[in-house]
This record gives sequence, structure tokens and C-alpha cells, in this order.
Amino acid sequence: MLNGKVSVVTGASRGIGRAVALKLASLGSAIAVVYHGNSEKAEETVREIESLGVKAVSYKADVSSYEEAKELAKRIREDFSRVDILVNNAGIVKDGLIAMMSEDAFDSVIDTNLKGTFNMIRHFCPLMIRAKSGRIINISSVSGMIGNAGQANYSASKAGVIGLTKSAAKELAGKNITVNAVAPGFIRTDMTENISDDNPLVQMIPLRRFGETDEVAEAVAFLAEASYITGEVIRVDGGIAM
Ligand code: NAD
Repeated sequence: MLNGKVSVVTGASRGIGRAVALKLASLGSAIAVVYHGNSEKAEETVREIESLGVKAVSYKADVSSYEEAKELAKRIREDFSRVDILVNNAGIVKDGLIAMMSEDAFDSVIDTNLKGTFNMIRHFCPLMIRAKSGRIINISSVSGMIGNAGQANYSASKAGVIGLTKSAAKELAGKNITVNAVAPGFIRTDMTENISDDNPLVQMIPLRRFGETDEVAEAVAFLAEASYITGEVIRVDGGIAM
């Protein structure tokens, strides 16, 4: 159980982030709901979390901005006094073949997925270091483990997240802070809405179906409670990357 804990979840207004926020709340954690665009959806998540009997506050922030991440850490510290669990879930795709990929498509995906994860760890870990305790869980992707044609920018960002996870795990272990990653495969969310169930890719998944957001949230919750696992990457992918 996570009673009395405070979790920060980025990209928590929808998709995997929302499922993670609700799962951690159902285990008793208060939640800082970080969102980028849709304040209405973020408020919906907040209300649903509050109905579970824990505190929730929404914060609008662009994780790709070093300064906004810094300000966010300050505001959350003022409101909650502590942060026990940080889930770096915010992410974007801008798919395209590398021979035609624009500089912006490469930069913006790296800035949000990789630098955003760095920015958040950078500004939230001092709080955890002072408390000598913390759990950081980064959402990577199987695309960062095995590559994916048409996703050079995304795969690079998510492989970077794995390297970042392992380095941070080694650095922060002495302060009793664990850092792990979850690598989802094909999960049914807005991000994958263009992939239909009869897409040949789905036939390549050993479990023969898309994953659900709750199934990713379960792995995140497991890592939030685990005390002797760090620097690990858990695939939640129906076996596609084994
Ligand atoms: P989604 O598009 O539904 O949600 C992404 C969330 O990130 C949104 O809430 C969005 O507002 C937020 N976000 C985007 N840019 C941001 C920024 N600059 N600052 C703050 N928030 C920002 O996607 P999802 O499928 O729920 O994906 C969640 C995470 O899981 C992403 O990191 C994604 O790469 C990863 N992932 C998803 C799948 C999948 O199949 N859906 C597979 C592997 C990995």
C-alpha cells in the first residue's frame, strides 16, 4: 500500500498516465496530476482520484522545458511537502522515415521524451535525496529496445530513457532511491488509435492483442512498491520484444 505517499505523474490527463495515476491513488497515494494541454481532462482525472479518498492537484507544465520543470518541483513541494514517487510518462510521437525526417520531428521528440525525463529527475531528485528515499519510474518503450522502422526519433528517445534510468539508478542508489523503467509494447491509447486490431503488427504479438493501460499501470505500481529492484526495465508488451 502507498498510504501517506505522494506521487507525481506526468501526462496524467489521459492514456497510460491517467491509468497510472488512478492505480497509485487506489493504493492510497496522493497524486500531483501533471498535464500539458487539456485542463478539462486533467480536472476529470483529479475528481476521479479525489473520489478514491486521496488528495489530487493538477499542474500545467511542459516537461521539455528545464525552467518549467524546476518551477513545477517548487510548486509541488509547496503543496505536498514531499514527493515519494515520480512517474515520467509524458511522451509524444512524430513518426516518419529517417530519409525524410525533419529536424523538428527529431528534436521535439527527443526534447519531450528524453530531455523531459531528465528535467523532471533533475528537479525532483534533490527532494528525494534529502528524504533519503524515493522511487522514479520512467516510461520507455519496446521501440527503444528493438528499434522500429519509421520511429528513429522515438526509438532513440526511448533508448536514451533506458540509459538515463540505469545511470540515475547507479547514482541515486546510495540515497535509497530506486530508478526503473517500464517498456510498453502496443497499448490501446490515443497514441495508437491509427493501428487497427487486424494490423499485421498485432499478429506479431505473441499474446495476439493490444495491451490495456491498466496493464502498464500494474507494472508501475509494482515498481513503486518494490524496494530491492533498481536499474531494471520491465516490458509490458505481450511478448513482442522477447
Ligand atoms: P497519450 O498521447 O495518450 O498521452 C501522452 C501524454 O503526455 C498526454 O497526456 C500529453 O498531454 C502528455 N505530454 C505530451 N507532451 C508533453 C509535454 N511536453 N509536457 C507534459 N506533458 C506532455 O499517449 P500514451 O499512449 O498514454 O503514452 C504514455 C507514455 O507511454 C508515452 O511516454 C509513450 O511514449 C509511452 N508508450 C506508449 C505506448 C502505446 O502503445 N500507447 C507504447 C510504448 C510506450
